[in-house]
Amino acid sequence: MPDLNWSSPYARGKAVIETFDYDGVTLLPGRMQAQVQRAREVYSSIPNDSILKGFRRASGLPHPGEDLRGWSKINTAKVLGQLLSGMARMGRATGDRSLWDKAEALLLGWHETVPPDGQLRMRPYDWEKLVCGLVDLHLYAGTAAALPILAQATDWAARTFDRTRRHSDNFDFWGAGPGATQEWYTLPENLYRAWLATGDRRYKEFGDVWLYEDYWRPLAGGSELSHVVPVHAYSHANSFSSAAMAYAVTGDARYLEISINAYDFLQRTQCYATGGYGPDERFMPPDGSLGRSLELYAGHAEIPCGTWAGFKLSRYLMAFTGEARFGDWIETMVYNAIGAALPTEPDGRTYYYGDYRLSSGLKQHYWHEWPCCSGTYWQLMADYHNVIYFKAPGALYVNLFVPSEVTWSHDGQSVRVRQETTYPEADTTTLHVELEGPARFALRLRIPGWARRASVSVNGALQTVPIVAGQWATVDREWRAGDALTLRLPMELRMSPVDAQHPDRVAILFGPTVLAQDEACCRRPFALASTADLSSALVREENDPVRFRIVDTAPERHRRFLQPLYTFPAFWPYWVYFDLREPPLY
Ligand SMILES: [Zn+2]
Repeated sequence: MPDLNWSSPYARGKAVIETFDYDGVTLLPGRMQAQVQRAREVYSSIPNDSILKGFRRASGLPHPGEDLRGWSKINTAKVLGQLLSGMARMGRATGDRSLWDKAEALLLGWHETVPPDGQLRMRPYDWEKLVCGLVDLHLYAGTAAALPILAQATDWAARTFDRTRRHSDNFDFWGAGPGATQEWYTLPENLYRAWLATGDRRYKEFGDVWLYEDYWRPLAGGSELSHVVPVHAYSHANSFSSAAMAYAVTGDARYLEISINAYDFLQRTQCYATGGYGPDERFMPPDGSLGRSLELYAGHAEIPCGTWAGFKLSRYLMAFTGEARFGDWIETMVYNAIGAALPTEPDGRTYYYGDYRLSSGLKQHYWHEWPCCSGTYWQLMADYHNVIYFKAPGALYVNLFVPSEVTWSHDGQSVRVRQETTYPEADTTTLHVELEGPARFALRLRIPGWARRASVSVNGALQTVPIVAGQWATVDREWRAGDALTLRLPMELRMSPVDAQHPDRVAILFGPTVLAQDEACCRRPFALASTADLSSALVREENDPVRFRIVDTAPERHRRFLQPLYTFPAFWPYWVYFDLREPPLY
């Protein structure tokens, strides 16, 4: 049951490499595992009666329990599909069947509130998320009720959705218009997943309705979106996943070109150093607006939803092209976007906006409980399992350097690879190979775009394989039980200007990690004297490999430090962008 339905007879665009599809990958103790564990505790304990209460109330059924708050005050339509999707994926990734049982009970409980005429109490925005949840329940949890309900829900949508399909612009940033279908261009992706999973043409035909040809057309010519206007950032980034699935469905190389150019457009003109994008939830014209955004707003990037769109686009492109470079964005977001987010709290308080203000930012929860980002946060925790490794006949691909274990079937035997590392706090990762008999295959390791002087050794012996940043390094040999491969990625300090118009407005990174300055100890942001360079201005602490002391010429009452953005707790002020050559205003 491949995630992207590669083996589907209905797919025309083929994958070069495949995901593990939430199967065979286990997280070992580390930051990712801790985040996932916390999410499992929180999301598995939301009472079903609370999730169903609003739907039951509206349909006149008994409705015990407490309402959820915020976006879910009337009912949970805005997140129901995301909750189901996360439970289906997480259940498969962790083997926790209680999540599948909970999802099935929720699905059946919700379906009892649907009247006989199939009228859903959902907007298209909510319905699109429901489709994702139903496809996932079918694919990953084997929930028998999922497909009949999906067919019923799609028939209702096909009868009732407004098909105006307004093009987004400065004044209507998600193409909603009066009464029309908001964010309609995100609809094809999951309908196409349903088509590939079932061969039922109703999904393909309804998906075709919502293709965003007007918006994508400039990308097909490789001209990027030269006319960028401040449209809604997350949903437009998410539209590119619809383009990617259009490639999977049609095999039309034009959709693949659109998806690749969209990735490059986002990297070159929209993303901050954290991998987040969308100040005030908008794309920025590439005229210095992104740099100026750091003087404005407090919400620079919608982190969970933005990461969700980024994970999917990157994963589609890695699969379709087999190229390593698309994994770089995933890594950036794993440490600096979703990996630096606050966890969702049991009462629904959710981290939403990354705050990168020049005047200092901080992490805090969104003003409403249970927003969109509470749904994508849960889905992302499951998706951590599906971005670390990829596979192809005769090759295992290592995209992320995370404590984890993967079991892969090769040549009739089960190969287990255990990855041990404290990366990015160490610059090495070691892969231990466990298998019954000797077997020849390739281990392929992503060399990040920032990496210089990377090296690979096997059982202590340095390997003379080509190592190029942004590509896979391949060790193809006969592996034996107990073999160990070590990848070393030496890290250096570097600066990342926010855009071309602001060459001195920079974030500072060490390897893949964005460093932030603790603002609470001292109200003076880091700056560089005109002749200084980073390595002389920042000194690595001996007892903490990712904490750097700012070398001060003037005596300071307190020492000043830069440390990973992901280490900052809620409400602790920091700087992530600095005007390096400007004297501070105060
Ligand atoms: Zn969101």
